[in-house]
Amino acid sequence: MSITYNSPAAEKTWQDHVLLNQFYPPLTLDNPRRSPMRELISTVLSHRTTHADEELAYDRMLEAFGDWARVLAAPTAALAHAIRTTRWPDTQAPRIQEILRRIQAERGEFALDFLADWPTEKGMAWLNDMPGIGLKTASLVLLFNFQKPVLPVDTHVHRIAQRVGMIGPKASADKAHQVLLEQLPKDPLVLLNFHKHNYWHGQKICFFAKPDCARCPLKGFCNYYLEHYGPATPEALAATPAHWDTAWGTLPH
Ligand code: SF4
Repeated sequence: MSITYNSPAAEKTWQDHVLLNQFYPPLTLDNPRRSPMRELISTVLSHRTTHADEELAYDRMLEAFGDWARVLAAPTAALAHAIRTTRWPDTQAPRIQEILRRIQAERGEFALDFLADWPTEKGMAWLNDMPGIGLKTASLVLLFNFQKPVLPVDTHVHRIAQRVGMIGPKASADKAHQVLLEQLPKDPLVLLNFHKHNYWHGQKICFFAKPDCARCPLKGFCNYYLEHYGPATPEALAATPAHWDTAWGTLPH
């Protein structure tokens, strides 16, 4: 794909995509990881919660109540107890019930399939209007389930974009969402891979506390690397692994 860069930051964003697409296994769009309703509610549950605890909360919720109608009708305290492995169950339980109440009231069923036919902006606005649903969650549902050209920016994507210099060092996550989307092609496959590869990179190499820059293929143009180690030397670049090594562990979900 040929690209015209509007700025040095946009060039870094594209280079990040190209290099991480070689470093990590590329993904395809044909197999959403979970249903739209599950993606939406699971992302609410995932806020500042590990993936294992989020899955446990989701499974316990459906084991306890059976289906979305019963989750909606349940005493809120009982729902909070079922999802107690999440960070803030007392906040999330009423939120989930309000989201379910709105979906049922507006659509007559607990399903989001109609979003496939809606324009992207309309779908984003509709999801964003739900309690506790921000740009990240709305983007995850629209990209993963409906292949819409949007970009979820989680804490890992945000941190790497700041360190590399794709966005300003103090740009907020919402600002990152807007800037990165302007810099990247409106291609759902590119956006999916950009999101997932930077998410993996943040979990496995560009750690919050101590990034493992020796293994990182982005060091040649990363502001953080330049500030801490100076310009990447030919030796350092040559010593950088070409691909993720499965001996280092499995990649996140
Ligand atoms: S070079 Fe270091 S700081 Fe920069 S993206 Fe890679 S791991 Fe993160």
